[in-house]
Amino acid sequence: MDFSLTPEQEAFARTVEKFAREEVLPSVEHRDETGSWDPELWRKIGELGLCGLPIPEEYGGSGTDAVTSLLAYEAFTKGSKDPGLYLSLGAHLFICTVPLWLHGSEEQKRKYLPKLASGEWVGALGLTEPNAGSDAAGIETTARRDGDYYVLNGTKMFITNGPIADLVLVMATVDKNKRAGGVTAFIVEKGTPGFSVGRELNKMGHRTSPTSELIFEDCRVPAENVVGEVGKGFQATTDALVWERGVFLAAGSLGMMAAMLEDAIEHAKTRTQFGQPIGRFQMVRDKIARMKVAYDAARMLSLRAAWMKDNGRDGKFEASIAKAYYADEVVRVADDALQVFGGYGYMKEYPVERMYRDARLMPIGGGTSEVQRLVVSSMLMK
Ligand SMILES: Cc1cc2nc3c(=O)[nH]c(=O)nc-3n(C[C@H](O)[C@H](O)[C@H](O)COP(=O)(O)OP(=O)(O)OC[C@H]3O[C@@H](n4cnc5c(N)ncnc54)[C@H](O)[C@@H]3O)c2cc1C
Repeated sequence: MDFSLTPEQEAFARTVEKFAREEVLPSVEHRDETGSWDPELWRKIGELGLCGLPIPEEYGGSGTDAVTSLLAYEAFTKGSKDPGLYLSLGAHLFICTVPLWLHGSEEQKRKYLPKLASGEWVGALGLTEPNAGSDAAGIETTARRDGDYYVLNGTKMFITNGPIADLVLVMATVDKNKRAGGVTAFIVEKGTPGFSVGRELNKMGHRTSPTSELIFEDCRVPAENVVGEVGKGFQATTDALVWERGVFLAAGSLGMMAAMLEDAIEHAKTRTQFGQPIGRFQMVRDKIARMKVAYDAARMLSLRAAWMKDNGRDGKFEASIAKAYYADEVVRVADDALQVFGGYGYMKEYPVERMYRDARLMPIGGGTSEVQRLVVSSMLMK
């Protein structure tokens, strides 16, 4: 078994990490404090090609494989120490642009993918609702056919990039009684009459990523904006599952773990108590070792899923196993890292305080840890 990465993959990850450290890191503390979005930063990220890495070149991306994408986005999160901005980037790419690439018609792909892959447009996925989270098949936003249009009515909740999105992939049901079998995916452009941004939500973490409700009131969407088939909306997100769990959320979690481990080691070497660096104390070393073991295991599980995707295997089961592991481990790693920093870790001027808050999203977003373990066990016991 060959575990090595190619020199090109390592060089690309280094380039992305350097960019993130130089361009994104300097302003993250301010953006986190104020909960603000910087369109200029987004433009620079787009210029580097990061808004559409895996999208094929003919649609404006780079056609980057899953393993290289995972490494690059991990490096982005590590270098920037800004998991929030990465959440926006990942949501734009992996739960909006990638499903469009995998399931859009040729016409939809030609029309939308170049704008999304370049970052000219920001994308979002509108699935979750006030009454439908883990039970996504229970969505209540309706889509009623009316001639050449569908009329959408309902409210979406917790939508990453909601306030800034130019295009939202909206899940609505054509028949609530059919549950998952009624769910249909629609492209809704900003400015479509009847579509508006609701409350902007004030979050504990990932504050550099804007989140909001979205409201649809008799919103008329052309029937040609249906993505894939009517009643098969979940197919688009299911087919993007390895990208979502094995690459997107994995890279954010790994990047946080790597950054916190690096910072904790540095602090343990330089902070002196009882006349010696705290890193000499075994109980501090124990935390450092635990962080490294969790990081390596999480990385291996994620790389396995990404590698399977690149090698023509399914990888969805493995991506769910990876998510079930790294989402909980990144929270533990954040806790250990903060403890190594003592009182300083509790202060806002240290990145570990921010990442401790950011890490807590991972067992919630993209399918909670409980749901992930349900998926793993039901695959084992079907
Ligand atoms: C910052 C942020 C960004 C987000 N971005 C997006 C986005 O861009 N687009 C989007 O569509 N959604 C987004 N979400 C929504 C996210 O996917 C949901 O929060 C998540 O799916 C959980 O749904 P819920 O919050 O309604 O929790 P609930 O489903 O109400 O779950 C509450 C608790 O019950 C548990 N639970 C529920 N069902 C079961 C079960 N069958 N067995 C065991 N335990 C169960 C859960 O694990 C959890 O612990 C975002 C959420 C957040 C916080």
